[in-house]
Amino acid sequence: MAAQKDLYDAIVIGAGIQGCFTAYHLAKHRKRVILLEQFFLPHSRGSSHGQSRIIRRAYPEDFYTQMMDECYQIWAQLEHEAGTQLHRQTGLLLLGMKENSELKTIQATLSRQGVEHQCLSAEELKQRFPNVLLARGEVGVLDKSGGVLYADKALRALQDAIRHLGGLVCDGEKVMEIKPGFPVTVKSTAGIYQGKSLVITAGPWTNQLLRPLGIELPLQTLRINVCYWREKVPGSYGVSQAFPCFLGLGLSPAPHHIYGLPSGEYPGLMKVCYHHGNNVDPEERDCPEAFSDIQDVQILGRFVRDHLPDLEPTPALLEPCLYTNTPDEHFILDRHPKYDNVVIGAGFSGHGFKLSPVVGKILYELSMKLTPSYDLTPFRMSRFPGLGKAHL
Ligand SMILES: Cc1cc2nc3c(=O)[nH]c(=O)nc-3n(C[C@H](O)[C@H](O)[C@H](O)COP(=O)(O)OP(=O)(O)OC[C@H]3O[C@@H](n4cnc5c(N)ncnc54)[C@H](O)[C@@H]3O)c2cc1C
Repeated sequence: MAAQKDLYDAIVIGAGIQGCFTAYHLAKHRKRVILLEQFFLPHSRGSSHGQSRIIRRAYPEDFYTQMMDECYQIWAQLEHEAGTQLHRQTGLLLLGMKENSELKTIQATLSRQGVEHQCLSAEELKQRFPNVLLARGEVGVLDKSGGVLYADKALRALQDAIRHLGGLVCDGEKVMEIKPGFPVTVKSTAGIYQGKSLVITAGPWTNQLLRPLGIELPLQTLRINVCYWREKVPGSYGVSQAFPCFLGLGLSPAPHHIYGLPSGEYPGLMKVCYHHGNNVDPEERDCPEAFSDIQDVQILGRFVRDHLPDLEPTPALLEPCLYTNTPDEHFILDRHPKYDNVVIGAGFSGHGFKLSPVVGKILYELSMKLTPSYDLTPFRMSRFPGLGKAHL
């Protein structure tokens, strides 16, 4: 048994955005928290790195739109505490065929939740954004609250805040073994720690840690090519032109969403990405074979040529990033079915950054055995039958 001084209220594994926000909420509530990260910080091997992410209220599901109210508040609070800009409001333009069912559902959710938005006909879109070409029948919905989050800056701000609040952030320390129980014992490459609770926010590596604890979540790890495209006239899709973020729903030639962010972070380059990628083992994401299948980049090239004519149709820059998807693309926020002081946050399915302030709050509440502030029904792991319970 460790001496009392070594007993943490919570050990958090993984310093991506979800682990950082969880440790931040714990530290804010004066809990003794240690955050363990396998790589030296900052790193670009997981899902949270890079310059930018989209923030928006526009979702088909009411529960995400409702969570976003508090997310915006916490993002603003963090920005204030850090004294650095983490967010830029640009608006988010949803593009799709008028009869696209997802577009209609999002529109209905925005109306029901009282979120300010504007429906734009093809003609209005053409006047407002002349450098976007639409196919016949395509329309737009503008979620005015949409914008850009500065991802790397946000991570840095959170890690600084955790330390400032008395928490420990230990990087270059891979967790090798978890011994469940009370206290839970965690062995890393550099030490042994004991905690009243453990939060696993290990992104694409989640199942590596869960398998020895008897469960395997239905997670698929995908390698995403983050593509930046050169503007023929620098700044023409940029912030100075009030160009918004956009999300294309079912636009030709793409079966999955395509999204873009105005140029700004890399001058003269606009980020346009495909919301899908190739299966990859996170340990092998940078192997040469991982670069060989570029169907996604080809789809994007055709999209750019047809819809964004003032961009060069071949990417100027590719940066890899990982998604960890669940079958329904909703998150997993739950306790381990056998060890109730082990909490899991996983499966953020390529849309978890904006929601991380509330995700972190929920994981903090679960780890401290508090009543969660939100209904967790959509996030329970029991929605997936047969989670290797035979091993439990
Ligand atoms: C290209 C791309 C674009 C995206 N765009 C958006 C967007 O516009 N809007 C949005 O809301 N979301 C977006 N997302 C999704 C969002 O970025 C992710 O949902 C989020 O970053 C997931 O964070 P995480 O903390 O779960 O995972 P990660 O960032 O992967 O963090 C997990 C951490 O755990 C560490 N770890 C793993 N195993 C161990 C171990 N054994 N010991 C110690 N440490 C360990 C890893 O090294 C890693 O740092 C995007 C994602 C990508 C890849």
